[in-house]
Amino acid sequence: MDNNIKKQNAFVSEEEKTLNWEDIQNSFKNTFGSEIYNSWLQKITLVKEYNDYLILGVPTRFFRDWIVSRYLDKILEQVKNFKLSLTRIEFKIIEEKRQSQEFIKIEELNKVTEIKDSILNYNRLNPNLSFDNFIKGNSNDIALSYSKKVCEHISRYNPLYVCGGVGLGKTHLLNAIGLELQNKNNVMFVSAERFMYHFIKSIKKNDMVNFKDFFRKSSVFIIDDIQFISGKESLQEEFFHTFNSLMDKGSQIIISADRPPMKLDRIQDRIKSRLAGGLVVDIEAPDLELKTKIIRKKIKEIESQFKENVNLSDEVITFIASESKTNIRELIGVLNRVLAFSRVHNKELNITDCKSILKDVFNQIRVVTVDKIQNVVSNYFNIALTEMLSQRRSRPLARPRQIAMYLAKKMTTRSLPEIGRRFANRDHTTVIHAVKTITRLSEQDDEMKKNINQIKSLLLEQ
Ligand code: ADP
Ligand code: MG
Repeated sequence: MDNNIKKQNAFVSEEEKTLNWEDIQNSFKNTFGSEIYNSWLQKITLVKEYNDYLILGVPTRFFRDWIVSRYLDKILEQVKNFKLSLTRIEFKIIEEKRQSQEFIKIEELNKVTEIKDSILNYNRLNPNLSFDNFIKGNSNDIALSYSKKVCEHISRYNPLYVCGGVGLGKTHLLNAIGLELQNKNNVMFVSAERFMYHFIKSIKKNDMVNFKDFFRKSSVFIIDDIQFISGKESLQEEFFHTFNSLMDKGSQIIISADRPPMKLDRIQDRIKSRLAGGLVVDIEAPDLELKTKIIRKKIKEIESQFKENVNLSDEVITFIASESKTNIRELIGVLNRVLAFSRVHNKELNITDCKSILKDVFNQIRVVTVDKIQNVVSNYFNIALTEMLSQRRSRPLARPRQIAMYLAKKMTTRSLPEIGRRFANRDHTTVIHAVKTITRLSEQDDEMKKNINQIKSLLLEQ
């Protein structure tokens, strides 16, 4: 079988090779994380491939708009890793209904998708993210112990609010609570992003009654990444009522966010005070001891799952743990890369090997934020940040400002209005104009191209 594939490929020249959509989907999963992947990207299909562009299939217009406004740049970037010559992506709406219309009447089909949506998408608890494999450390023991207490005494700590930076284990904990309680309770586990998606879908379908019923009937309501509702007024309104009605009937609510309730940005005060009204626990960055424990645990898991021996010396394990500074998700990513390397080269790795692998990995996963872009760009052009963000329009300020907006669009997942706001409350049309201008200039002007490349590498180095 393997041989056959190789033989066929030998006759296909580089340009003719077709994209392997499954590989690309995998890369989406790694880049965007499983939440965004499961909610959105997984549903994208490959319709047709041309030399320099792709047509991708999506189920609805809303879906397409959502993807285009939030993820398109990154999708294109990913796809380009597989085929450099691609320059653009177009979407075609392929309604799911059509495929089986002959067999099922439309009303029936709607019911089917409704059920599918609710059961599969809301309560997709991951059986691997349980209390059993959540490792306790100094940075998470309070959050862990209260998560367990919530399972023993429903509604005693209500709501339980778990906060902490990205990749520190919030989703894991929430999922573990869901697993623990799901047998005896009506557990609803949903990310704020999915809550929003169904909210909008229900408004469009004029079906708010079902939406309300659906969420309000749970006895344990777990909502992940609540910071997502920031700035979305009507969604906040709906969330507020859902929250109150659940609390009234004594349901347990568990919430996660990337920061404490009172630090949430552009969320109504009355919601913030409700969120803070129960118990707030936070997870901090892991220390060396916890990171080492997690690596050892992962190695054990891999050994038993794949029935293979993983040979990493203590020295290498400590090295990986101390080099990976930001979070646990990154730590696991790094470990996987190291193990993949060791498997491919069939050898036990030393520190020098690890150093070169890690250098590569960190370059790819360094997080670029709008703040960082603004700082690096203003430094690069030797202007004060306040001037760059000011309303002055002289070219020595306006160009760097436009470059920073352009990079914010290209290198972060922020939407155009969000970027506008970060640049002293400018309108999103100003950002669009900046992106267009800099795109054009960087194609025509070598100096601009050079500047952009240098700034990009500065951003990825830090
Ligand atoms: P967050 O939701 O805070 O961004 P996640 O819960 O997705 O973070 O955690 C990122 C990864 O790290 C997941 O694979 C998770 O299983 C793992 N992880 C985080 N904390 C721990 C821990 N204490 N023990 C084991 N694995 C952990
Ligand atoms: Mg999470």
